[in-house]
Amino acid sequence: MERVYIGLGSNLAEPQEQLRAALQALQGLPDSQLSRCSSLYASDPLGPPDQPRYVNAVAALDTRLEPHELLDHLQHIELEQGRQRKAERWGPRTLDLDILLFGQRLLNDERLTVPHYHMHARAFVLYPLAELAPDLQLPDGRTLATLLSACPFTGLERIAEAPLLAVTT
Ligand code: ATP
Ligand code: MG
Ligand code: MG
Repeated sequence: MERVYIGLGSNLAEPQEQLRAALQALQGLPDSQLSRCSSLYASDPLGPPDQPRYVNAVAALDTRLEPHELLDHLQHIELEQGRQRKAERWGPRTLDLDILLFGQRLLNDERLTVPHYHMHARAFVLYPLAELAPDLQLPDGRTLATLLSACPFTGLERIAEAPLLAVTT
């Protein structure tokens, strides 16, 4: 098993429900075990400002899937939950599932950049991630603590406890 951290985001169609549904879908992934989810946070949107605030969280998944297989599953879940791919970058969406870290792997191809290229500068990624793994170190040696110290808690608000994950057998 490898430990993967997944960033979840939504700003359309009842975002908290979108995240709950996404977690349920993650629990159903083959060869994988959903471990934990962070609290839920509200965040100011990146990109076009004329869109609702986001709800964000980070989940920890242990998996035997390969990274591209996992990405296929995540994109399938996004589409199942009504994600529409638009020309406009960072526009509003029902669900965004990004692979933040995949063990200590470094990936960079046309479909996948891991660690996520911008996670080090996103408060809505780093603060929820720190709930799950405060002592985390990135593959390049930077610690999460160092990244956090350079990333103010700006535009971010903790709005709910971690969703309860149904017990799977
Ligand atoms: P951002 O990547 O800045 O958070 P976004 O999440 O809105 O933006 P998407 O439209 O969800 O971007 O994804 C665009 C493409 O990014 C996907 O088609 C996917 O192949 C690619 N991608 C590259 N690296 C990753 C990653 N680590 N996790 C998820 N998708 C990735
Ligand atoms: Mg994203
Ligand atoms: Mg994405």
